[in-house]
Amino acid sequence: MTDRIAIHTDGLTKHYGDVRALVDLDLDVRAGEVFGFLGPNGAGKTTMIRTILDEIRPTSGRASILGMDTRNKSVEIRSHIGYMPGDLAMYPNLTGRDTLTYFANLRGGVDWSYVEKLADRLDADLSKKVGDLSSGNRQKVGLIQAFMNRPDVLIMDEPSSGLDPLIQREFQTMMRDVATEGRTVFLSSHTLSEVQRVADRVGIIRHGRLIALEAVASLRSKAIRRVDLYFDAPVDESVFVGLPGVREVTGTNHHVVLSFDGRMETLLRVATDRYSLVDITTQEADLEEIFLTYYRDEEVSA
Ligand code: ATP
Repeated sequence: MTDRIAIHTDGLTKHYGDVRALVDLDLDVRAGEVFGFLGPNGAGKTTMIRTILDEIRPTSGRASILGMDTRNKSVEIRSHIGYMPGDLAMYPNLTGRDTLTYFANLRGGVDWSYVEKLADRLDADLSKKVGDLSSGNRQKVGLIQAFMNRPDVLIMDEPSSGLDPLIQREFQTMMRDVATEGRTVFLSSHTLSEVQRVADRVGIIRHGRLIALEAVASLRSKAIRRVDLYFDAPVDESVFVGLPGVREVTGTNHHVVLSFDGRMETLLRVATDRYSLVDITTQEADLEEIFLTYYRDEEVSA
């Protein structure tokens, strides 16, 4: 089950004249995962998506979705995917309901009670003309059309823009639900916090190249944490310098702050052997810090 591959790319490359939008991308997205495709503006995310959807042709390389070649089987592939483009075109004079009916007809019909359920979850008003909706509310209609055929592979290009935080959270739950059902989500995003919350694995793209590919959980465990130690009397903070995992020691007297990426045992032993430890707090470093480290490294080696 976990070995099934939903999206596969092999040396996928796209040049626009001199612009190398996508360079030699080798990627396997597993069935049943939420895969975060993260990169700054202009990194090549949309180019990658439009290439695997056969909207644009690669300069070289190939791709497949659910084992089907994206160029030869593009029509068949369409029936298995849901797609939320970055710029979904809708007729402003149609209501949300009419818009979804239109998309449903293109797909040969969908289970309408499921559409209503999705609309409920996103708190979408389907009775208004989409031209009269705020961008966030229009976005909801777009999301419903992407989810409504219960696709095996859901491909979304920066889908959360304009959604308010509560709806974003519900939307994240919807993506997790898709993965729980063994279906796949490919989520392009430049929002680190979103990817961190929802994705199983994340690929980081920059200047058209994949510069990192990691499980979110292992990124987390790599993360440098901030550890705050509180004592009932002043301590000599230098006793923590050089302990395994301790990278930096600051703070004075009753309160010592460590930058830490190791196991707690030794640290706790030292903290409690000589002193009376009153409280300890640890904060997970945000993935942002790790990503920034990647970006910096990439710049150095480029
Ligand atoms: P964003 O988050 O801003 O949408 P992105 O990661 O999706 O960015 P792409 O839209 O794939 O990035 O763009 C990758 C590079 O290719 C950019 O330098 C962009 O200017 C260039 N590009 C994209 N489409 C074209 C085009 N049709 N003609 C020429 N250059 C293009």
